[in-house]
Amino acid sequence: MTRIDEILAHGRSFSVEMWPPKTAEATARLRAVFDELSFLKPSFTSITYGAGGSTRDLTNDLVIEILGRGDMNPMAHLTCVAHRRDELVDILERYKQAGVDNILALRGDAPAGSGEKWPKGDLEHAIELVELAREVGPFSVGVAAHPEGHPLSSDLATDRRHLASKLRVADFAITQFFFRVEDYLRMVDDLARLGVDKPVIPGIMPILNIRSVVRMAQMSGAAVPQEVARRVEAVAHDPVAVRRVGVQVACELAERLIDAGAPGLHIYTLNQSAATLEIAARLGLGEYQSAP
Ligand SMILES: Cc1cc2nc3c(=O)[nH]c(=O)nc-3n(C[C@H](O)[C@H](O)[C@H](O)COP(=O)(O)OP(=O)(O)OC[C@H]3O[C@@H](n4cnc5c(N)ncnc54)[C@H](O)[C@@H]3O)c2cc1C
Repeated sequence: MTRIDEILAHGRSFSVEMWPPKTAEATARLRAVFDELSFLKPSFTSITYGAGGSTRDLTNDLVIEILGRGDMNPMAHLTCVAHRRDELVDILERYKQAGVDNILALRGDAPAGSGEKWPKGDLEHAIELVELAREVGPFSVGVAAHPEGHPLSSDLATDRRHLASKLRVADFAITQFFFRVEDYLRMVDDLARLGVDKPVIPGIMPILNIRSVVRMAQMSGAAVPQEVARRVEAVAHDPVAVRRVGVQVACELAERLIDAGAPGLHIYTLNQSAATLEIAARLGLGEYQSAP
């Protein structure tokens, strides 16, 4: 089974996210990461896309390579910002011809400070890309969800209404990373009140390095709770301990999400295997699920 909508209909998913490397050395390292993670049999592996097409061929090539391996089930991210409609159709057609089943339909962001120089695309919001993917092929289509609200939206209620409309035409959502289980549960409740009960897979980012998480949290709008910051800062002088605390925090969040009935867990791997392997082993994810 490779379609994510079908996988989710059968049980809890366990997935990983990677970005396409830009050098031969980084590609070789990522292949080793695939080998290390493949025995877990992740439900799917999602591959990011550089907004505006900056990783267009790299994303395509990596998705096709993973498809060829047969053990990591790829999902291709695609963003509509700065793309013409025919370019998007072309990319989707290539995926359809290659036999790729799963697409994550996103808007993407213009680079900070790009202003007027950044070309305007034909599609304005992710929902239009979901509809386009439906026109091109029989893909299983996912979308992004922001538990704390999209950082640029005017207010949370409006953002939830847009998310609900998008999810109504998609099959599932994956969240931006977050640290408070309550933010995820509130979003799922808000969606239910708006009549949407499609699976929303929580995205989990293990803290491996405090500086990068603070930077990413600022960009994505995800708050790092004081309690988590305190635990990490207490060991900030020791990178090994920061990583250990980060994995512990991720495991605690994942356990609470599983207890609350989350339909899956999506790990932001940062192209590294160690933390994901540790989380999977401690929580019995992936292949570990079937262990006695
Ligand atoms: C799981 C995940 C994976 C991601 N992968 C990538 C990636 O590979 N590459 C990348 O560049 N970025 C990626 N992103 C980031 C994403 O592109 C940004 O968060 C972007 O700012 C919003 O994308 P979206 O798909 O949520 O957009 P949208 O759903 O279009 O929403 C963007 C904003 O517009 C508002 N909005 C939505 N619909 C409407 C409407 N009809 N009218 C008015 N306002 C509306 C929303 O409330 C929100 O504020 C990812 C995010 C997540 C959570």
